[in-house]
Amino acid sequence: REPPPAVIVVGAGMSGISAAKTLSDAGIKNILILEATNRIGGRIKKTNFAGLSVELGANWVEGVKGDQVNPIWTMVNKIGLKTYYSDFDHLANHTYKQMYGYLEFGEPPRVTSLQNTEPLQTFTDFGEDYYFVADSRGYESVVHYVAKQFLTTDKDGDITDPRLVLNKAVTKIQYSKSGVMVKTEDGSVYKAEYVMVSASIGVLQTNLIDFVPDLPAWKLLAIYQFDMSIYTKIFLKFPYKFWPTGNGTEFFIHAHEKRGYYTIWQQLENEYPGANCLLVTVTDDESRRVEQQPDSETLAEIMDVLRNMFGKNIPDATDILVPKWWSDRFYKGTFSNWPIGVDQHEFDQIRAPVGRVYFTGEHTSEHYNGYVHGAYLAGIDSANILIKCAKKKMCNYNIKPKST
Ligand code: FAD
Repeated sequence: REPPPAVIVVGAGMSGISAAKTLSDAGIKNILILEATNRIGGRIKKTNFAGLSVELGANWVEGVKGDQVNPIWTMVNKIGLKTYYSDFDHLANHTYKQMYGYLEFGEPPRVTSLQNTEPLQTFTDFGEDYYFVADSRGYESVVHYVAKQFLTTDKDGDITDPRLVLNKAVTKIQYSKSGVMVKTEDGSVYKAEYVMVSASIGVLQTNLIDFVPDLPAWKLLAIYQFDMSIYTKIFLKFPYKFWPTGNGTEFFIHAHEKRGYYTIWQQLENEYPGANCLLVTVTDDESRRVEQQPDSETLAEIMDVLRNMFGKNIPDATDILVPKWWSDRFYKGTFSNWPIGVDQHEFDQIRAPVGRVYFTGEHTSEHYNGYVHGAYLAGIDSANILIKCAKKKMCNYNIKPKST
């Protein structure tokens, strides 16, 4: 009989896998990873779009060419994933204004929804450059890369380790001074000494996981104070190109009187040559609206915007892909955002363990929340907090007082 796992890790995205690897490296090998979906990778996910491999979630390695090397950049290069430098410098030069449209974005698309803390430590530490991943193996290969360093694989390189169990949605976590009990939607029950929860802050804000006893008020308050942003990357394919290509044309802006209405555009000629693809992004309220309407309606809106920019005679798109991260109960959005007024105090509360329940995920990254490298580094940090408790019985976690 197998001994019961010491640690159950909930979720096999970048942070859960990174936490599990850190535990394993520290000699805590009796772990069990329970993942709700049928795959590892979480918010790093490829899909097939009109014969191309595109990313539904994370797409860029953000923060390259600085004093420190972004650990994700190291992995991407070790694996040999195809990446393309994104040139945002000319963004403001390519603005198509509509009616009283005004320009409000002068920065790369993801920064606009992440810029609550200035300057962003990702760019001061790791550099200002962005690289777009376009590779048939998918950006998610970085998660597989970390996973295969501690989980067993078969001769084809597929993970066969029984410590990773897919299609196990955790619905209940019962915890006490002596251990934890974790229940999944299919009725399975697992016991362990500790649990490490990596589900997104969006998921923690729902009642998918029932904590027994309830999480304390300070923890709940911190969870509800954080924002889960929504960022939707809509891929489009056309019979031919009608937009400018060449140096400095990668990004363009459509300034509409309605804020955030199909504003940021990217032509993907470098990444997918000859495929005639465009990418347009919407965020937050627009994302929610778009997720709730049929894709055909979204496409009609988009074609109106494009005809406004390029004229009536352009052809209709032949394919559209609208990722739906907000409606997905295992994500409930795309990445965490620190709202105004939230500081180190709330961050500590978000990451702090509650008894034997530990927390990880990009939202628990002190300096890089919202990013793939944030998820990776947060997994290591959270695991180390648990290891300190399990091995040295140093289980106190100090929460910094609120700064005044
Ligand atoms: P997740 O990947 O969400 O992992 C959590 C895992 O837990 C998931 O696999 C989920 O299925 C599972 N889970 C949830 N609930 C349960 C449950 N009850 N039981 C069991 N399992 C559960 N970052 C960048 O650096 N560059 C980018 O360009 C970029 N763009 C992005 C674009 C989009 C559209 C999105 C969605 C994200 C983007 N990000 C980007 C952010 C980056 O993808 C995330 O920060 C990172 O992948 C989060 O990893 P994680 O492990 O914290 O969470």
